[in-house]
Order: sequence, then C-alpha cells, then structure tokens
Amino acid sequence: MLQAVDMCAERLRDPFGREVTSLRVSVTDRCNLVCFYCRPKSFVPCSRSELFTLEEIARVAEVAAALGIGKIRLTGGEPLLRSGVVGLVERVARIPGIDDLALSSNGALLGGLAAPLAAAGLRRVNVSLDTLRPERLRAISGSGELDRILDGIAAARRAGLRPIKLNTVVIRGVNDDEIGDIARFAASHGAQARFIEYMPVGADPLWRDRHVARAEIVARLGRLLADDPPRCGADPATYYRLRDGSGEVGIISPISCGFCSLCNRLRLTADGRLRPCLTSDGEIDLRTPLRAGARDAEIADLFRRAVAAKPERSRYVEAPARPMIAIGG
Ligand code: SAM
Repeated sequence: MLQAVDMCAERLRDPFGREVTSLRVSVTDRCNLVCFYCRPKSFVPCSRSELFTLEEIARVAEVAAALGIGKIRLTGGEPLLRSGVVGLVERVARIPGIDDLALSSNGALLGGLAAPLAAAGLRRVNVSLDTLRPERLRAISGSGELDRILDGIAAARRAGLRPIKLNTVVIRGVNDDEIGDIARFAASHGAQARFIEYMPVGADPLWRDRHVARAEIVARLGRLLADDPPRCGADPATYYRLRDGSGEVGIISPISCGFCSLCNRLRLTADGRLRPCLTSDGEIDLRTPLRAGARDAEIADLFRRAVAAKPERSRYVEAPARPMIAIGG
C-alpha cells in the first residue's frame, strides 16, 4: 500500500504523553432520527460537495494506520445511511494495522445490514438505546420504531458482532427511571448496557437540570450491582458487575469523573476535518489538501499537528459551534 508504509515505525504522542491509537470517523452528518440531546433544531448537514468521499475516508484511514492508529470506529450522524458503507468497512478492515473496527449506530437500519457488515469485516457494534418505551422513543428521537431497533440488535447478535454495547444517554425526567430496565434488557439479550452522562453538546437549554451524574446512576442501579469495586475498561467506561452474574454494565461519566488523562483518540468529521478533542473547535482541514493532491506524508503531518493540538482536558460549553451530530460522539 501507499507511501504510508514509510511511516510505519512512528507512533503519535501528544504533548501530555498520551499515545493516540484511535480514530472516530463520522461517515455522514445526516441522521434518520432527531434526538433532541444530539441535534439542535437549527442543524443543517454539510453539502454533498463538502462531504468526504468514501475514497477519501479510506485513504485517511490508511495514513492513520501507518501512524499507529489501530482502532477505527465508524459513526455519524447515522453511519448506516451512507450508501457504500459496507464497501467502506470491507476496505478499512483490510488495512494492515487496523485491528479493531467498530461502528456506532442507532440500530434502525441494522436489521438488514448487520450480516453484510459482519461479512465485510466489522467486529462489533454499539447501538443507541435510550428507552424501551415506544412513546418515549418518539418523544426523544422523533421516531417510535423501537421494534426496528430491537430487530437490529437481534440481527447484530445473529451476525456474530461482539460485543454489542447498548448506549443510553441518561436524562433526568426523560429516561432516568429506566436505568434498571435497560441494564436487565441488555444482559438478557447478550449485550452490555452502557450509561452515558448527558453532555452539553446538543444545545439543550435544560442540560444542567437534566444531567445525571455517575454516582446517581450507580445508586439507581442499586441492588442490581454486585458489591465488588468497579473496574476500568480499555474504553472510557467504568464497569460494574451485575449481582446475578449475567454480565456487567458500563458507565461513561465525562462530566462528573473526566477521563481525559486516558484519551487516545482523534475524530474525523464528515466534512473531512480532524478534531483533536470532542470539545475543541481547533479542527484541521484534511479535505482541501487532499483534493489539492497532498501526498500521504503531508496528510501524516496534519495528523501530527492535530495530535500536538490536543488539549489536556475537555472544556464543555453550553452552545458548542458543532453539535454532537456533526462530530460523531
Ligand atoms: N447515530 C449513531 C448512534 O446513535 O450511535 C452514531 C452517532 S451518535 C452522535 C454517537 C453517540 O453519541 C450515541 O451513543 C449518542 O447517544 C451519543 N450522544 C449524542 N449526544 C449526546 C449527548 N448530548 N450526551 C452524551 N452522549 C451523546
């Protein structure tokens, strides 16, 4: 492959000593859901000409792999809306050095795509599941098609995608009374529940009142959890064992217990910008140089610049320039 092989020995390390080994790639900023916590009403997706092509994404993934990035997660928007996503998975899965290829989805299109994605080389999937009640799903996301999401989760299981993680953003007054139900549902469906603290990345004016901290999530799980101390995973979640032995739940708590010291990731937005941190708008444009014929070594330099620009810590602001839907989580 490419000139990229020349860069193989190199690792990316930021000014705070953190090695960067993971890239979240947003393959589209369009979504078939309109979750209020992710997508502000005013959000307009990028135009077709601004959208990074699948060829451009694959090329950037090759350069990333040559720089020691071994994990790629495809996200969005809803990545399964992007036509050609199965072909992209096939291509990225073949890149030497990529040993962990995952995808985040809202699950609505997973029923028909889980098997082809697995055959193309996808290893695992995270599915958003904020509620088990159709009327609530409609209120949160504009769609009441819970059955399609559950079918998607079942199809992922049949296709052998493992682990299946079910991501729930915990929002006070919206779904915080379902934490136990979702944990039990996940465990009984061969999946793992992960509860995510609500972050102010969707321009919700009620965010402060609706945020539920990790300690409260743990308290609400109560007797479902075993007494042993939680363990830290390779990802930002803290894992708690379920008392009945059916598995674990994860809690991701960026607000109450930041995990920036462990951050190992960069993000690539759907319009081709490298983002050093979820909360930093200091993005580095890859699309313009790529379309101007940049060589792999030049793209690699832009990766180094992005890594050098990683802030020590996230700084959440209540009305971010880019909402979550435009970043990819
Ligand atoms: N559509 C895909 C999905 O549903 O997973 C991928 C994109 S979505 C932006 C990625 C993740 O970001 C989801 O797990 C979603 O719940 C999470 N997310 C979005 N807005 C969030 C917020 N305000 N706070 C915490 N997590 C959020």
